[in-house]
Amino acid sequence: MAENCNNDCSSCGKNCSSRDKQSLIKKPHELSQIKKVIAVVSGKGGVGKSMTCALLAAAAQSSGKVTAVMDADITGPSIPKMYGVKERATGSDLGILPVVTESGIQLISMNVLLENEEEPVVWRGSLISGTVMQFWTDVIWTGVDIMFIDMPPGTGDVPLTVFQSIPIDGIVVVTTPQDLVGMIVKKAVNMANMMNIPVLGIVENMSYIKCPDCGRKISVFGESGVDALALEYGIPAVAKIPIDPELTLAADLGKIESYDGVLADFMKKITE
Ligand code: ADP
Repeated sequence: MAENCNNDCSSCGKNCSSRDKQSLIKKPHELSQIKKVIAVVSGKGGVGKSMTCALLAAAAQSSGKVTAVMDADITGPSIPKMYGVKERATGSDLGILPVVTESGIQLISMNVLLENEEEPVVWRGSLISGTVMQFWTDVIWTGVDIMFIDMPPGTGDVPLTVFQSIPIDGIVVVTTPQDLVGMIVKKAVNMANMMNIPVLGIVENMSYIKCPDCGRKISVFGESGVDALALEYGIPAVAKIPIDPELTLAADLGKIESYDGVLADFMKKITE
């Protein structure tokens, strides 16, 4: 039993022996089929977590897997824009149907439910967690081989609820070189370890820039420490994404699915 236990597993993340892990896991919609779930997390916002999630799903979809994205970043939903999705989700008495991106990825996000996507979501944590859970229980996901969940940043209330309520097979941690220097990314890795969820891979975003003239790699924020971190924590897969103005443009234009397969090998490693 954890120190200072108040016997309320719903407010605690510790994976101690007295916890009945299965009891907190929620079933998806009865018409859904979802084989594998990978959560994409980061220690803080603005490191490129959503972009990595969108790129991973695009790589999975183009490799022939039926792919879905659940945008659990309720207050900062940016995935629909990156995919250029303008439609709104539809529903029936049976449940909510996700929107489908150009390449066929099934997607649900707060922004495809709001009438006006510029409307802010000013909600308390419990309401946000409840909405994420509805994305799992009330949305009809069809024949999904792999679902990527774009988690809210950090280790707060919402990620905790998601980790405890959805059967997550593994997580991918997204970081930047500056972030690695601090403790923030280690907190995210330790949170996953506490919850007994394997860390499948780590993505260092904005790892370097490539000189447009000579092609030399320049480590803007100093030499990468991601390989050492992966070794320290026994994380099997590592990817490095450069700062690339074409990637920014692809995201802004809603064309991220046609950006080259920068995460194709990484995606294969973490899903095999
Ligand atoms: P987070 O989800 O961590 O808050 P996002 O994935 O939304 O961050 O990224 C924020 C923005 O930063 C993106 O829309 C994109 O314009 C830019 N960005 C992220 N990574 C890169 C990169 N490697 N190269 C160029 N721009 C990037």
